[in-house]
Amino acid sequence: MKKSSVLLIYTGGTIGMIHDAETGELKPFNFNQLFAEIPELKKFEMDIDSYAFETPIDSSNMNPKIWVELANLIQANYDCYDGFVILHGSDTMAYSASALSFILENLGKPVIFTGSQLPIGTIRTDGKENLITAIEIAGAKENGKPIVPEVAIYFEYALYRGNRTKKISAENFEAFDTPNYPKLAEAGVHIKYNRAAIRHPNLGTKLHVFESWSNEVGFLKLFPGISENFFRNVLSQKGLKGIILETYGSGNAPHEPWLQNALKEAIDNSLVVVNVTQCSSGKVDQRKYETGSHLEKVGVISGKDITAEAAITKLMLLLGDELLSVEHVKEQLQQNLRGEVS
Ligand code: ASP
Repeated sequence: MKKSSVLLIYTGGTIGMIHDAETGELKPFNFNQLFAEIPELKKFEMDIDSYAFETPIDSSNMNPKIWVELANLIQANYDCYDGFVILHGSDTMAYSASALSFILENLGKPVIFTGSQLPIGTIRTDGKENLITAIEIAGAKENGKPIVPEVAIYFEYALYRGNRTKKISAENFEAFDTPNYPKLAEAGVHIKYNRAAIRHPNLGTKLHVFESWSNEVGFLKLFPGISENFFRNVLSQKGLKGIILETYGSGNAPHEPWLQNALKEAIDNSLVVVNVTQCSSGKVDQRKYETGSHLEKVGVISGKDITAEAAITKLMLLLGDELLSVEHVKEQLQQNLRGEVS
């Protein structure tokens, strides 16, 4: 049987750091020495190639231009590899995994993000296990077909759907979770795949990369005492096309006439407003309370159980397509495009 092949892409982040032998400082790892640093990789019955960004970045510096570069890199190598592993800082990994899931239309191969809380060169690193298992998952096939043909995050013995993840801890090894979706796999002695939860898109259709993004979007998070002045100023910013409104509980907001009027005026003026809950799990239901139904009445779109990270990247991508009308953008926002919403 033909060996699996995986392309490892290093964008930056803690995982790719090692201690400089002379100064003891942390510095980015030279990917040409990958096999010397992680000899375990030689034991894989797989062909592993690597590609490193010329200037590795802290993931706080991530942006849509780099998402498109990553997607183009995957597309250019799509026929040569069975799967892809993206090494990425954990801080914005949930945004990047969400973005890549939308950008890569008709994806039929694994794209597994991973990183670590401690650099790969430190003794207690979580990076080695994360990297080794991510590679194994990216190359895993059954009856000649990839087991996980979607964008996912592997971290601390668990595999998650990328566009369902949230970073939940700044220091625990278990840094991610998908509160509204089951894990795609758990790694113990064996990797146990949750086959029912894994997405199987329509294979056979050609991979397509969406290249246009809009950054004329933002978050507006409610808090008790939010002023009309602040609220209106955010909504009326020049050029703004879309807002993720972060509401309370099941999608509720103060039942104030000024708030409803401000939203109505903005929406009538073509602003797209999506309601996402501030809670870490559960969903928006704009019909449950009076404090939610006034949002529904003025045309706020329910984000249901989507994460804020997936909502903003989905909105950026849809608004980036200049051929889509506002009505079409709203219609697409309510569709489950890549398994991001129940
Ligand atoms: N600040 C780092 C980053 O996101 C943290 C990490 O690598 O996990 O790039």
